[in-house]
Parts: sequence; structure tokens; C-alpha cells
Amino acid sequence: MSNRSARTSLPMESLWEVMAKGSAAEERPRARVAPHIYAGLAVLVGLLARIALEPVMESGSAFLFFVPALLIGAFSGGLVAGLTATALGCAAGGLLLFRYGFPMTSAMDAPLFAALGVAIALGGERLRQAQREAAATNLHLLERDTYLQSLLNTVPDAMVVIEEHGLIQSFSPVAESLFGWRANEVIGRNVSMLMPSPDREGHDAYLARYHRTGERRIIGTGRVVVAQRKDGSTFPMELAVGEMSSSGHKYYTGFIRDISVQREAESQVQSLQAEVVHISRLSAMGEMAATLAHELNQPLSAITNYLSGGRRVLDKELPGSRALEAINKASEQALRAGQIIRRLREFVARGESERRVENLPALLDEASELALVGAQERGVRVETRQDPAVNDVLADKVQIQQVVLNLIRNALEAMEASDKRELLVSTALEPDEMVKVSVIDTGPGVSPEIVDQLFQPFVSTKGAQGMGVGLSICRTIIESHGGRIWMEPGPEGGAAFHFTLRQVSSEEAD
Ligand code: ADP
Repeated sequence: MSNRSARTSLPMESLWEVMAKGSAAEERPRARVAPHIYAGLAVLVGLLARIALEPVMESGSAFLFFVPALLIGAFSGGLVAGLTATALGCAAGGLLLFRYGFPMTSAMDAPLFAALGVAIALGGERLRQAQREAAATNLHLLERDTYLQSLLNTVPDAMVVIEEHGLIQSFSPVAESLFGWRANEVIGRNVSMLMPSPDREGHDAYLARYHRTGERRIIGTGRVVVAQRKDGSTFPMELAVGEMSSSGHKYYTGFIRDISVQREAESQVQSLQAEVVHISRLSAMGEMAATLAHELNQPLSAITNYLSGGRRVLDKELPGSRALEAINKASEQALRAGQIIRRLREFVARGESERRVENLPALLDEASELALVGAQERGVRVETRQDPAVNDVLADKVQIQQVVLNLIRNALEAMEASDKRELLVSTALEPDEMVKVSVIDTGPGVSPEIVDQLFQPFVSTKGAQGMGVGLSICRTIIESHGGRIWMEPGPEGGAAFHFTLRQVSSEEAD
């Protein structure tokens, strides 16, 4: 049995034992009668002993042989059994006096014996009372100990108690599973064994400094430190230390919470966010390139047209001139620039996306989770309403998640100054095997000045904070997936952004 279970089960067993004993003594009639029987037997033994000793003893000491009976009665049964013993002793003594013809010396012993009996009975009662009180206190202490132990066993934090020199006094079950050590392996050893370097070497000095200066660095507060398991691996933990004094000795209780899972999740969110930011930048560049290509195409066509017009004029008026040759070369270069731009547009339109059959509900859940980091702290109530008929879509997962992320982030930002902050992310089946995803907020809605160019690049009301490319990226992505994106005023005054994607039937998915 491990030390832990030994420690936890002991108070329980003792508690039952004490309770059983207590109730036996107080409730069972047999237990109440027994002291009287013992007293009676002791009187009988005293009587027989006295008679047996008659050949060698004078007729005195008729009552002396019943004193043990008084003690037995009073201390085993208290007042009543003590009085029974006194009465039986008196009767037996009277019998002896009768037998010896009432000698004067022994007759005087009778009242003395009776007084002694009453005194011993009262003493016995006091002793029994004290015993009962001690048992009740013991029971109470055990109850509290059991209660405390069960509380400590259910606390999700690990608990380690050390004394003033750092030696471990107690090691909770959660600590056992957290550190990989059994309580009996660590109790009595220095707590520095649970720390990696440099704390391992420095902990004794930290304690000594605290005792010397009283300067608190961790006690009463809490902080994140690194702990070491039995197998040598380390993990971050949140440590809170309490201090107590008992019989002139100091003890420190450390409550430990493993935060490695939380840290891992945080770093995962961070790396996902970094990835999204990176993709966002790439998409923005692609979008910018497409816009530039579009804008440059027009002036380039005009240049080419003007150049061919100029060539025709020169051909007629100055045939064979060197200027004509230069115009030809300029025209060639303008065509080349046009080709480069066309290729660039084609590349952007094609993108480098990788489409697969994706489960839309799962994809949305993942994206929402990322986009909604911190939403609760901002007081936003989020609702997701997924149409059970919506299933798989053919999509580039990262790109669609980017769209959802942009829409949710915009909605959260728009609701920052609103009193009512409710966000609804929903899906619905549309005609022609399309599915519709909606992100609806209760913000102020899109401002009327930009509503017509909402999906154009560089349109923003956010000043230096907004680049105004988020929605244009969303449009590029959704249109390249064969869907449509649009905005309409929300039912409660905010903005409702919708986009569609083509659903993949289960046969197609197979
Ligand atoms: P940015 O967020 O960088 O400004 P976007 O293209 O994502 O770029 O958004 C363009 C503009 O559209 C925003 O500046 C904002 O004015 C408006 N907008 C977008 N989403 C919402 C919304 N949910 N509610 C109100 N206005 C919005």
C-alpha cells in the first residue's frame, strides 16, 4: 500500500474504531452491567481470600480485602458501579464481622470503608467523565482530520508541505501524479529535488535568506516557476506558498498547478495567429498585384495604341527614319510589359491554393475558435447555428478560414463601442447545391460612404489601423472558389456578411 493511501485511510479506520468503541461503551446494556459483575466477583474473591487467610490472620481487616473491588467497580463503571461495589463490600464485611463476633477494632472500619467507597466511586466517575470527554475530543479531531484530508485529496492542485529547512513533510496524491514521485520516496527529503537548476542549488539559500530578512519573494503571492519530474523532464507550474507556525516551528505549504497544457495552447494559438498574419500579408500582396495589373493594363493598351498610331504617321511622312525604328522598339517593350502583367494576373487568379474536400462545420469551428480569442473578455455573446444538412465543401481550408477570421474580427471590432454585443455565425443550405455562411453582428453597420466599394482594396474607415484589404482578399478567395460574397444590413442594425461555397455530395466526396 502506498504511503498516500496509508495516510488517507488511517483516519477513516480510526474514526470508525473510535465511534464503534464510543457507542459500545455508551449504548450496549451489556457494557453497563459488566462493571457490576466485576465488582461482585472482586468482592467474592476478597471474601474467599479473607476466609482462606483466617488460619494466619487475626479477626481484624474485615473490609481491607474489598478495597480492590471498590477500585474495579469505580474505574470500570463509574459512580453507580462504584456504589454497588461499596454496598457489596459493606455486606460482605458485615458477614465477616458477624463471623468474627463483631470485634470492636474491625467494626470501626465499616463507616470508614463506606466513606472510602463513596469517595472512590466519585473519583471513578470523574475519571470516566474525563475519558468520555477525551474520546469526544479525539473523535472530533479525527473527524476534522478526515474532512481536511478528503478536502486536500479533492483539490485539483498538488500540495507539498515543507518545514523550515526545506524537508518535505507531506506530499499530496495530485503531487504524486504530477511529479511522478511516491510520497514515501520524497517525505523527509529536501524539496529542492523537485526543481531544476539553478533553483535546485539555490533553494536552501532562498529559505535561509527569508528566515534572516523576512523579505517575501514568493510567500503569500504566487508565481510561475519551472518544476522537475522524477524522470528529469521539466514543466512550468503556478506556485502559491502559504506559511504557518506550529509549536515554534515554521511550515510552508506549496499549492502547485501544472500550466504546461495552458502554455502549449497559448503557443499554438500564437503560432496559428502568426501563420494567419503571414498568409494575410501574402494574400494582400497577391491582391495588390492583381489591382496593379488591372490598373496598368489600361495605360499600357493606350501606349500601344498611341505607338501604332505614331508609327503609321511616321511611315507615311518619314519612311525609313530612325525614329520609326525607336517607335517599333518601344511598341515591342509595351507589348512585353503587357505580357508580363497578363502572366501575373493569371498567376494570382490561379493562386497556389490546394483544394480538398473539407468538412465545413469543423472548418468553421476551428476558424471561429481562433478568431474569438478574447471575445468573451470583450463581453461579446457568441452563437453558432449550424444547419445539420451542411456538410462537405471543396475548398482550400486555410483560405476559407482566413475569410471567416477576417469577417469575425471585423465584426468584433465594429461592436467595440456598442452596448449590445452579439455575434452569430450560421450556415444554411442554398439552392443549386450551394451553402451559405453568415457572420452577423449587432454593431453600427457599414458606413454608407464605403458601402458601394466595400470589397475594393484600400477601402477602410479605420485610419492608420486598417489597410482596407481584408474584405477584398475575402472576395478574391470566395470568387476563386466559385462562390459569392456580399453584405446586407443586419436584422438588428449591424452588418450581415454572407458568402457561398459549393457543397460536395457524399458520392462526389467518395
Ligand atoms: P480594414 O478592416 O483593414 O479596414 P476591411 O476590408 O476588412 O479592412 O474592411 C473595410 C471596411 O469595412 C472597414 O474599415 C469598416 O469600415 C467596414 N466594415 C467591415 N466589416 C464591418 C462590420 N462588420 N461592421 C461595420 N463595418 C464594417
